Amino acid sequence: MSPLRVKTISAPLAPGATIGILGGGQLGRMLAQAAAQLGFRTHIYSDETHPCAFDVASSHTSSRYDDEKALNVFAQSCDVVTFEFENVPDETVRFIEGHVPVAPNGRALGLLQDRLAEKNFVAGLGIPTAPFRNVESETEAREAFAALGGGPAILKTRRLGYDGKGQRKIASADSCVRAFLDFGAPSILEGFVSFEYEASVIAARARDGAFAAYDPPKNDHENHILRRSTVPAPLDQARAHEAVAMAKTIAEALDYAGVLGVELFVTKTGLVVNEIAPRVHNSGHWTLDACLVSQFEQHIRAVAGWPLNDAARHSNAVMENIIGTEADAFASFAKNPAGLHLYGKGEARPGRKMGHITTLTPKA
Ligand code: AMP
Repeated sequence: MSPLRVKTISAPLAPGATIGILGGGQLGRMLAQAAAQLGFRTHIYSDETHPCAFDVASSHTSSRYDDEKALNVFAQSCDVVTFEFENVPDETVRFIEGHVPVAPNGRALGLLQDRLAEKNFVAGLGIPTAPFRNVESETEAREAFAALGGGPAILKTRRLGYDGKGQRKIASADSCVRAFLDFGAPSILEGFVSFEYEASVIAARARDGAFAAYDPPKNDHENHILRRSTVPAPLDQARAHEAVAMAKTIAEALDYAGVLGVELFVTKTGLVVNEIAPRVHNSGHWTLDACLVSQFEQHIRAVAGWPLNDAARHSNAVMENIIGTEADAFASFAKNPAGLHLYGKGEARPGRKMGHITTLTPKA
């Protein structure tokens, strides 16, 4: 197939232009809604047959992520392309980058898809991470456990893990070997960080380098899934500034355009970066209701070469995910004077994120 001439983005992209989104889940859905608010068209590409983002997009394509013919047609229809999940194959993004601009860039995505590369990158910026070791053999599994002090640790597959999948808590060298053999994939062993709580920074970087961060929420998980995000987090001002500065350093080093989520452990002695999500993030959903501009609009602005908006918050907020069959109680959620967002997903499978609800209180 002969490559097309790569389009260039004429920023700011004019309303009526088409923003392509790889991935059709709730994040793609809320991105498409934000794009529509600014007058853009969206084209969603997913390997599922009827993901929930298709319902709100101008057009959609359902095909495999390695279907070059379909990707080619998709790329030709778009003025710029973004993605809503980090596990979209690196090769897919590289292929599309050969036709049309992609934001965030494929290099950032490729790096953040591999937990080892990600940890080395963050540590190389002088930002604290959990101690970690690469594990690609039984011998390395034993050595890594010993090197991290023989204490509790977590083995994680280097690729494709999410919501606790591909992760196991490790208490002995033998269990480290067993977990590695069960995963059957290159992994990293991380020392267990004894944190007070988890927080995150949701921030946007524009094509011209402008940067805007939301106030960091405190995040509570249940069964490895985000249960709730609360803003403000009980972080003192110096720590909150430090968290935002870390996100800025990371975004600049990646030459990033778009929204990213930096997940943090807050410990007695300081902040530790756990993971970076190169996309809009579940712990930023409260921005839809508590801020003038949501993380979704901010991402679309960055991708389209528009100026970022002020990320200030007008209210305190608690965002609760609606998970699995909890969504059956939609009628009682509907009675709450709160920001209810349902994703229009069919089957309420256990652990499936069906919606979220944000409760606002006046900012002190
Ligand atoms: P992750 O997939 O890396 O975001 O990890 C999922 C969850 O596991 C985190 O939100 C933490 O609650 C927990 N976790 C992951 N890594 C560590 C660690 N090194 N120490 C303590 N808890 C961890």
